[in-house]
Amino acid sequence: MTRCDGCDTEFKWSEILKRNLHYGFIACRKCGGAHKIDFPSRLKVTLVSVVPFLVFGLFLTPFDNTFFTIVTGLFIFVIGMLISPFVANYKLVEEG
Ligand SMILES: [Zn+2]
Repeated sequence: MTRCDGCDTEFKWSEILKRNLHYGFIACRKCGGAHKIDFPSRLKVTLVSVVPFLVFGLFLTPFDNTFFTIVTGLFIFVIGMLISPFVANYKLVEEG
């Protein structure tokens, strides 16, 4: 799990998950340093969530039922988002 560049405090999974959803900043709960997801991690987050969702929804489509395909695709997307805090890396950004 990614850590604060300033004071080495480990970020919580839930903190990272929230930020991964809208690519926001994480403020360290100890030193207040603002962290932003780095570019390679944006790709990784996309890879574990959006890509499996698209591959499943557009190419695999194992079910005749469109509704079931969408629901299962969304489930895959959610699983990917839950994994994303483990693959994402955040780095300290200059304030202001
Ligand atoms: Zn810190």
